[in-house]
Amino acid sequence: MTPLSELAHGQQFPAGALYIVATPIGNVADITVRALHVLGLVDRVAAEDTRNTSQLLSRYGISKPTIAVHEHNERTAAEHVIAHLRNGERIACVSDAGTPGISDPGAKLVDAVREAGFPVIPLPGASALTTALSVAGAWVHTFSFIGFLATKTRQRDTQLQSLLTHASALVFYEAPHRIVETVQALERAFGGHRKLLIARELTKLHESVHQCTLAEGPTWLAADANRQRGEFVLVVEGAPHQEAAENAHDALLETLLEELSVSSAARLAATLTGTSRNVLYTRALAMDKARNREKDERE
Ligand code: SAM
Repeated sequence: MTPLSELAHGQQFPAGALYIVATPIGNVADITVRALHVLGLVDRVAAEDTRNTSQLLSRYGISKPTIAVHEHNERTAAEHVIAHLRNGERIACVSDAGTPGISDPGAKLVDAVREAGFPVIPLPGASALTTALSVAGAWVHTFSFIGFLATKTRQRDTQLQSLLTHASALVFYEAPHRIVETVQALERAFGGHRKLLIARELTKLHESVHQCTLAEGPTWLAADANRQRGEFVLVVEGAPHQEAAENAHDALLETLLEELSVSSAARLAATLTGTSRNVLYTRALAMDKARNREKDERE
């Protein structure tokens, strides 16, 4: 068998560098050979939660000095990390689970360390994002990672409206106490037809991956209280091609109709989008009538 050090040294291991190391998202065995090797050799580990990380490392017989780098101290902690790098140390950065910088601390540290002139070296591994996408199937051609939605209702709904015409699949992270509300909000914003993948407790004992439509999502979650427990990744199909184009045209016409007549708005929209002027004229006319009706009702 090839020794671990030889496998892990496929890439160089410079001193005075920051190593961004992915750790498991549930199953502790999901850590790479290279990650274990590097964690075993670094001088220090910058960790989101030093207790969690020390426990994880101890399962592999590794014990290291740690520096806390979390959401609330990332910039000041970066200064400590940089001071150690100046002394020629190798430092690993890990988050509580998965890949640092993906809805987790790490990105600001990366910026600061790179700005200070030290190399930042990625060690790929587990992430709930890629784990969920790996079982999503062919309907996800391209995707956009949104992560956690805003917690305030109005902000969340505005965020979802801005994603309405997005053609790529959308990937969200969600916590158990908000999962039902979030799936309901997704259905309200995007309609019930799009596909939804609910990936729950990935790599853990109670892992489940369920595919349905947005309309079916709330019922599936409500059918068993256990389905609302744990950690979630939601993947939502992108706007259907036709729907995406129509929504984008409507948004454009809406703006143009604020200033222009129906025919001028249609002509300009046709020039800007390359879509038939007649199609846009019919749509603009209908929108203009609806706007006038609403105005009359208000007066
Ligand atoms: N850095 C992590 C990564 O690379 O995926 C994400 C950290 S973020 C603070 C935690 C969120 O990731 C959870 O609320 C959940 O949405 C998602 N997540 C993490 N582990 C998961 C798992 N085992 N199954 C499903 N989702 C998970």
